[in-house]
Amino acid sequence: MNYNIYCPFCKEKLIITHQDYYESLVEHTTDSDVSLKDGYQCINHDCVSNKLTLTWVETGEIFTTFPNFPSRNINYEQLDYFINLYKVDSELYALNSWYYYYNNGCQLIKKLTINFKLLNYRFTLYPKKIGGENIKYKYKPNIFKWKLNIRKEKSYG
Ligand SMILES: [Zn+2]
Repeated sequence: MNYNIYCPFCKEKLIITHQDYYESLVEHTTDSDVSLKDGYQCINHDCVSNKLTLTWVETGEIFTTFPNFPSRNINYEQLDYFINLYKVDSELYALNSWYYYYNNGCQLIKKLTINFKLLNYRFTLYPKKIGGENIKYKYKPNIFKWKLNIRKEKSYG
């Protein structure tokens, strides 16, 4: 790995503390074998992620080893419950990770997307991604390149 990832709660650098079979979303959706991954944790003892024993993997996905969960992999609903318990409101992907930049890029594009209806047509105008190799910019909107989708609305009656 050639870049550091950071705790989304306290911004401290995440440290590899163990390895385990954390199932990524890609592995889950493609039903492929779960690979052994480095587990990154926040070692700041005052941090909520430390109290919840949260673990991130290199891509930025979050897992927990919190003792009372039936399964090591928790869903976001369960995580929300604990986040609210600790009164923390924050992005949950590890900062500077692939998922962090991908998610931020998608949200920005969504914010910039213009939707309107004219006669029986639906127009959607949105910026393309910048692309390239640098993950910091790859998924960001390119405000100089826009794509227009035109879709005919179904007419009823
Ligand atoms: Zn932290």
